[in-house]
Amino acid sequence: MILFDKIVFGPVVSRRFGKSLGINLLPLDNKVCNFNCIYCECGWTNVKNTKVKYTSYEDVVSAMQIKFKELGQKGDFPDVITFAGNGEPTMHPQFLRIIDDTIRLRNEYMPMVKIVILSNGVLMNKPDVLEALLKVDLCVMKLDAGNGKLFKIIDQPLNNKSINWYVQNLKKLGDKLIIQAIFLKGVFNNEFIDSTDESNLNDWLNYVVQLRPKEVMIYTIDRETPAKELEKIPSDILSNIALRVNEAGIKAKVYS
Ligand code: SF4
Repeated sequence: MILFDKIVFGPVVSRRFGKSLGINLLPLDNKVCNFNCIYCECGWTNVKNTKVKYTSYEDVVSAMQIKFKELGQKGDFPDVITFAGNGEPTMHPQFLRIIDDTIRLRNEYMPMVKIVILSNGVLMNKPDVLEALLKVDLCVMKLDAGNGKLFKIIDQPLNNKSINWYVQNLKKLGDKLIIQAIFLKGVFNNEFIDSTDESNLNDWLNYVVQLRPKEVMIYTIDRETPAKELEKIPSDILSNIALRVNEAGIKAKVYS
């Protein structure tokens, strides 16, 4: 499993975003998330970890300032600054303040670089988190299933809310919303699951049509997953899903 041991990491080459400078707001030695996705590259969420020690606001801003300045002075610009890292970035208690400083530092040292947030979107029901998300360039939110049963198996949301609650929450981003959707199959807890089965896919497409995102990013597992019996989805099946999204008048692309 991959854990990032720095606040600012890279730039790394990203399948979806090109040259990406990563920002990790989560602890450097463990994963913190309000989901427990069975495919998470950071491993399982420690659901008993109630006392999370986040990196301080000051340390985050200082690490960003040093790196942005260095890259800006060299003219070695990334394509994007991406909030990702060891879990869910919006859980940082100073998330809004950090986004304000990121925008300020980006404008100062590398104004053409876009700011991306990869999130599960759960905390958009908090006004400060929503405000922060609405300020950045690209908000990429998860929608990995179309029905409640698969949503709970694949993403394991710790707040135990329904998929419908989750989708209503995503609507708060309006036309800023970009969806990322992983498709997978395999055995988990002795049950065979396949998120490309027709019934799930139909329900998922209905949600996508309701949400009308700017774009849908479709992919499958790429690295080691905490649930050991998962399989990749072949690229022709992913392409067919993208085609169906396109036919609904929504941009979609497969990243594999
Ligand atoms: S939402 Fe992201 S960080 Fe959280 S468990 Fe899922 S894949 Fe991992």
